Order: sequence, then structure tokens, then C-alpha cells
Amino acid sequence: MPLQPLLPASALAANMADLKPPLRPQEAHVEASRCLYCFDAPCIMACPTGIDIPTFIKKIASGNPVGAARTILTANILGASCARVCPTAVLCEGACVLDDRDQQPIQIGRLQRYATDYIEARKISVLAPAPNQTGRKIAVIGAGPAGLGCAAELARLGHTVTVFEKQKQAGGLNTYGIAYYKMKPELSLAEVELVKSLGVEIRTGVRVGRDMKVAQLEKDFDAIFVGVGLGSGQRLRIPGEELPEVVDALDYITRIHTDPLDTIPTGRRVAVVGCGNTAIDAATQARRLGADTVSVIYRRNEGDMSAYDFEYELAKNDGAQFVFRAIPLEVLGTAGHVTGLRCARTRVGADGKVEIVPNTEFIEPCDLVLKAVGQEKQAKLLRDIFPSLSVDARGVIAADPLTGQTSIPHIFTGGDCANGGREVVNAVGEGKKAAHGIHVFLTKETAAHPVQPSRLGAQTGASGSGLLNPIRVRELEQALTTVPFLSGSPFAKK
Ligand SMILES: Cc1cc2nc3c(=O)[nH]c(=O)nc-3n(C[C@H](O)[C@H](O)[C@H](O)COP(=O)(O)OP(=O)(O)OC[C@H]3O[C@@H](n4cnc5c(N)ncnc54)[C@H](O)[C@@H]3O)c2cc1C
Ligand code: SF4
Repeated sequence: MPLQPLLPASALAANMADLKPPLRPQEAHVEASRCLYCFDAPCIMACPTGIDIPTFIKKIASGNPVGAARTILTANILGASCARVCPTAVLCEGACVLDDRDQQPIQIGRLQRYATDYIEARKISVLAPAPNQTGRKIAVIGAGPAGLGCAAELARLGHTVTVFEKQKQAGGLNTYGIAYYKMKPELSLAEVELVKSLGVEIRTGVRVGRDMKVAQLEKDFDAIFVGVGLGSGQRLRIPGEELPEVVDALDYITRIHTDPLDTIPTGRRVAVVGCGNTAIDAATQARRLGADTVSVIYRRNEGDMSAYDFEYELAKNDGAQFVFRAIPLEVLGTAGHVTGLRCARTRVGADGKVEIVPNTEFIEPCDLVLKAVGQEKQAKLLRDIFPSLSVDARGVIAADPLTGQTSIPHIFTGGDCANGGREVVNAVGEGKKAAHGIHVFLTKETAAHPVQPSRLGAQTGASGSGLLNPIRVRELEQALTTVPFLSGSPFAKK
């Protein structure tokens, strides 16, 4: 049977409502007042865009949400979406010193949302276009978080920027891919408008390589930033994959962002293959669209999943079931429609490779299969449009981590196509670093950074901030045990 939408619009609106409600003014004030305004704030070092977190929190505490929003957006033009989508538990909030005092960390994400919502609701503009135009022109390929982060920073440095985006709407995965209960596409599009307000031109519906040749870009522009993200989802390469109810999880999620929720066909019994964050997002959203059961099938152990713990917990709380150490062998169908997945049990061999355990086959009944086994790298596209660009063994663009400069001096990069797939905030931070790399390349001048000395490893430039070298919670814990004068202190993590 072809699949149907399962729930009425009212139920879907409730299921897909924001997971975390906004803070009320009084709540924001109380929460901001708990911050210790640390001098060498680890929360800043854990932010890949280097937002001066204690400063914006202080501004909220003193009743200045507009100033707080200015502090946030100056460092991270997508501060509003990052407030909703960042995995704060492994970044700023995970690094908050209150964690070490057995207290709840400051809710940095929700405070960031409070400040950015405040100006968005009142249409207050806190950033102005740069007064000095350098006369230099830069093309940005891809209007995802990396491209937008780069474009905004370049515009603020006084350059003329044109962004080319193949989709109808800009924003990249921020517009088309983030789980609907975390962020709505409208917010991403509002951020695109913010970037445009800095004087950036965004040309959508232009696929570079097809509608616009790179040779033309090289003729018209002084430098190019490549922020093309990753490609489409990988195939399962098993029989039955061609059946109509075997769908790429990313396409399923994209549809949630482009079509009315009550028109999206969903299976009653959904099988999700894979166990990264995309798989978990697909599982949770399928349940919220009305699926009776959702089984997530993963060939390794629970501890090997790349999904974050809090995403895993959310999916379990939403009723998704997890089938570990299992691999699909065939999609089964009747009359041209999916009826189940033939799977086998797996074990991890001494060499770390997954092997099938003989005679352990079982059928997982389902009417929709969502494939979430990773996105293809863009190696082919990159080889086609930039034949001499160095791409590393992982299929991502090889680049200098501090400037984003590639093997072709006037071409810079950042975001998923260069880091292999991380988070929105990494993409924005890398776009911003590349903007500074381009600025130095074109003008030979270094733009000023806020400097904050750090005892935890960051040395110069925009240091003390995570922009140059973000420290994730795991790395921070490592630093706390290895920095000699801290390891003996009562604040060192045991
Ligand atoms: C399902 C899913 C859920 C996610 N959830 C989260 C989350 O909750 N939190 C989080 O922080 N991160 C999340 N991420 C990761 C995050 O979305 C990415 O890390 C981020 O979007 C990367 O930004 P980017 O600009 O590098 O790439 P993209 O966002 O992929 O943007 C690349 C842009 O380039 C365009 N493009 C590609 N080729 C061309 C071309 N030839 N010409 C013109 N334009 C082109 C694309 O259309 C796209 O708009 C998620 C990712 C996925 C897949
Ligand atoms: S680490 Fe926590 S307490 Fe310290 S400045 Fe950052 S948010 Fe405030």
C-alpha cells in the first residue's frame, strides 16, 4: 500500500513544537545572574565561533538584551540558530565551570536564544554594513552556514561578496535539514536576510559547475570560498533498495521542511538504518509524524553510536526502539511495496571489523525504510569543478585549518566539505576563519581580533576564544588533568 499522512495538522503542530520553550524575561534574568563571569571562561573556548559568552550573559543580567544580541551576532552571524541547534552539552554548557561544582551549567543556549529572539521580534538591527569598501570581490559557493558565516564576515571587513546557491532557498541544511522540533526553516531564512542586510548578494538557483562556470568566477572575483557541504545519502547496496518506500533519511527530513506536515506520507512501522545524528533525527521525527513503531538498526554496539547521548535519549523517550548488532541484508516487498527488512545479527571481530553471525537471520517488519548511513563526500563534484584542488583521503578538501586556504591560493574553504561533517557552529566558525584568511590574502592586513589570554592552551590572535582552536568537553577534561598547576587543584576533574 502506498504510504499516507497519519496525523491531522493540529496534532502534528503540537508534536513538532519547539522542544525547549523560550525563557521568559524574569527567567532569563535569574539564569544570567547565576553566571560567574569567569575571567578565563572555558565556555568561550568551547565555542567554535568564539562568542564572548560571559559578556553577553552579563548584558542580559543588566537588562540589555540588545547589547547581548550584538555581542552574539558580532561573533556568530547565525547566533539565533546556533542557540537552538548547537549540541551545547558537549560545547559551551559542557565546559561551564558550574559543572565542576555539581551545579547545573548556565543555560547558555537558551540565554542566547532569549537575546536573539528579543531583537528579531522587535526587528532591531544591531549590525551595520561596513563603511569602507575595499573594492575586492569574493565569490562564495554554497549558502549554508559555512558560506553565510564567511560572507557575513567578509562584508563586515569591507569586501563585496556574492553567494551562489543551487537550491531555491539559502541556508543549506539549516533551512532544509535540522530537526523540525529544534528549529523552523523560517528562522534560518531570517538569518539569510540578516546576512543580506550587511550588503551580501545571494543568487539562489545557481549551481556552480553547471549554471556558472568556475573559470567565469575566477575571472570576475579576486578569491573564492567553497562551502558546498556534503553530498546525498549513501546507498545500502542491498536487494530491494529500489522499492518506493526505501527513502534517504535526508530527503525525508527535507520534505518535512518544504511540504505541509499533514501531507507527508509516513509508514506505520518505520525502520531506520544507521545510528548517527541524522538517523536519530529521522527516527524521532517519524514517531512525531505518527509512526506506530520506529526501529533503529545499527550494526555495532550502543557505545559505538556517533549520535549524541541527548539525541539518543530523546529518541528513546519518543518510543523509538534500538536494534544493535544487526545489519539489513535485503528489503522485502509484496506487490511492489516494502513489507520488511531481512536482517542478520553481527559481532565485532578482533580486528574491529563487523562480521555477520551465521544462522541469525530475522525479519524486521516495516513499511518504510529510512537510510541514514552517512552522506557522500563531494569529491566528484570538487574534481569536476576544480580539477587541480587537493582532496584528502577522506574525500574532503585539504586546507589550512587556520585560514581555510586550499592548495589553490585564491580558493578557500570551510564547513562540512572541508571537515567531513560536523555541526552548524563549526561551519560558521570555519567560514569566519576563512574570511580572515581571504582578507589577509587580498589586503596583506590582519583584521583585529578580541584577545583574551588563556591558561588552557590558546596562545595568540582571537585566543581565549574557541574560534582558532575550539576545545570540546572531552579535550577540556584532558587539559584539566594535564595542566600541572590545575591537576593538583581542587577544581581539577577527577
Ligand atoms: C539531518 C541532519 C541534522 C543535523 N542536525 C544538526 C543539529 O541539530 N545541530 C548542528 O549543529 N548541526 C546539525 N547538522 C549538521 C549541520 O547541518 C552541518 O554541519 C552544517 O549545515 C554544515 O554547513 P555547510 O555550510 O558546510 O554545508 P550545508 O549546510 O550542506 O550547505 C552547503 C550549501 O552548498 C550548496 N551547494 C552545494 N553544491 C553547490 C554548487 N555546485 N553550487 C552552488 N551551491 C551548492 C548546497 O545546496 C547547500 O545549500 C545536521 C546535519 C544533518 C544532515
Ligand atoms: S563557564 Fe559558566 S559560569 Fe563561567 S562565564 Fe561561562 S557560563 Fe558563566
